Amino acid sequence: MASEAIVELAKRRGFFFGSNGAYGGTAGFYTFGPQGAALKKNVEDAWRDRFTIREGNREIEAPTIMPEPVFEASGHLDTFDDMLVECPECGESHRADHLVEAVTEIEDAEALPGSEVEELIADNDIACPSCGTALAGVTVEDFNLMFATDIGPGDAQPGYLRPETAQGIFVEFPRLKEYARGNLPFGITQIGPAYRNEISPRGGLLRLREFTQAELEQFIDPEEDEPPLDRVRDVSVRLYPATEQQAEDGEYVETTVGEAVDEGTIGSPWVGYYLGVAKRWYDRIGVDLDRFRFRQHLAGERAHYASDCWDAESEVDGDWIEIAGFSYRADYDLSKHDAHGDDAFTVFKRYDEPKTVERATVDPDMSVLGPEFGGDAAAVAEALETLAERDPDAFDGETVSVEAAGETHEVDADVANFSVETVTENGEHLTPHVVEPSFGVGRTVQTLLAHAYSEDEVDGEERTYLSLEPEVAPQDAAVFPLVTNDDRLTELADRVATDLREAGLAVAYDDSGSIGRRYRRQDEIGTPFCVTIDRDGIEGDGPETVTVRERDSAAQVRVPAEELAEELAALRAGGEFDALVDRYETVATDVETN
Ligand code: AMP
Repeated sequence: MASEAIVELAKRRGFFFGSNGAYGGTAGFYTFGPQGAALKKNVEDAWRDRFTIREGNREIEAPTIMPEPVFEASGHLDTFDDMLVECPECGESHRADHLVEAVTEIEDAEALPGSEVEELIADNDIACPSCGTALAGVTVEDFNLMFATDIGPGDAQPGYLRPETAQGIFVEFPRLKEYARGNLPFGITQIGPAYRNEISPRGGLLRLREFTQAELEQFIDPEEDEPPLDRVRDVSVRLYPATEQQAEDGEYVETTVGEAVDEGTIGSPWVGYYLGVAKRWYDRIGVDLDRFRFRQHLAGERAHYASDCWDAESEVDGDWIEIAGFSYRADYDLSKHDAHGDDAFTVFKRYDEPKTVERATVDPDMSVLGPEFGGDAAAVAEALETLAERDPDAFDGETVSVEAAGETHEVDADVANFSVETVTENGEHLTPHVVEPSFGVGRTVQTLLAHAYSEDEVDGEERTYLSLEPEVAPQDAAVFPLVTNDDRLTELADRVATDLREAGLAVAYDDSGSIGRRYRRQDEIGTPFCVTIDRDGIEGDGPETVTVRERDSAAQVRVPAEELAEELAALRAGGEFDALVDRYETVATDVETN
């Protein structure tokens, strides 16, 4: 189904729509309607269940605005850029790399230098998609994607809306490690908004300026910590490694997580582990695995921090879109914050046995250095300390030369008071490495809608329906009184709806229009079960019964009203409808699949 059709269906059925329509709309911002907000929340809950709770991780919630020094340290201020080309005629802005990809075989023009992209624009006679003016000769500029703001009035501090939730976790590492009592490995998750001033937002939820991320930062000791790979060894994965992408007739590698890690196709066992966990999770929430793959980043495509990176990609409307990234970020983030921030972004790793080591130290005589070097004396002393650690032999002669405050200084070896001490060390300060699975929630939602969209024929009538998994569907069930002019029947329908809601299920109540129309309305938003209250259910002496219809098969069973809440809760938790078909009386329906 085409992206435009999904966006159209999403708007009509209350999933999502462009924001601020009354004021002309704002590109890159979408509002989730009642169905979409429920679907998105269910996806987030399923993610939390899998990546936080079942992995034994902990979740935090950090602010969305952070001060400038954070992004100086993280590298975002310098390097979080996209390539911008502005049409000299109509003023419209475009992603230069996307324009090039659209007319050439190049798949990752982002990795090319700006000058090369300018040449490709000229060589391929690329014109402005909005007005048709030739873009040859127009400069391709680096455009930083962060939204800037001021923190406080007056001499305000510059701040930025976070471009990823991850930084909110990294900057708090000094405190978070204490909550983990300094023990590695531990994982911290966060689900929340991220902001990127995208040059050309597009495709519904695919490229937004405000979007929700679900991220996990797994902190590990790179020398000792291993993932529980056995849990996912057998998970089959379709991989698209960098080598295959570059080969003439490159192919997918159909393998298992265990094999891919053993053979080195996936470089990091931790990345492999999370690819396995993620693949199972995507299956659970209803991603069509025939339209799913893991693609390795090409060397030039990797983010400034990542040393190996795989994307989970889903196929939507013929395009492959990145729905999650899995990066081995090594110690990049924590080292940067350690260097720029005031706190220690390391953990103390205790040795099994204390170690005795020789340590070269100096104890410079400041009463000599002070008069000799004046304001530079402290810098000279510090330089002596560093030199003693790095090159103890430098203190063998009568004088030592050190670089301090931009000059070379000669210092008497006696004044430095150099000595070698034997010390006992109980451990060392280690900068943990980070493995990061980072999911886009909106892109996942759009994938689910695209993959769930189905058409068939029921009782001779064509219908479209969303085959969403019960765990994520916006409504768990809908309740219909067959007619509205029978008090006993509407009273039972009200009672059934209330009972189901009390049991924690999201239930729609619909008593208008033909029963067929009511089914179609629910089918189109993916409600997995419709409960109809008819006269057969209240006649006779037996317990009251209702019919339950399963969305995809349109199969129906008659279930005692008393047992309904429990049965539906079990179905939502992953139970099979066939189990009800085996246990209860069935009602005939005629289905033809297109
Ligand atoms: P990245 O840090 O670029 O790897 O982004 C992590 C995840 O966030 C991606 O896998 C996407 O699913 C999602 N994402 C990134 N940029 C956007 C955007 N502009 N709109 C919607 N989702 C996005």
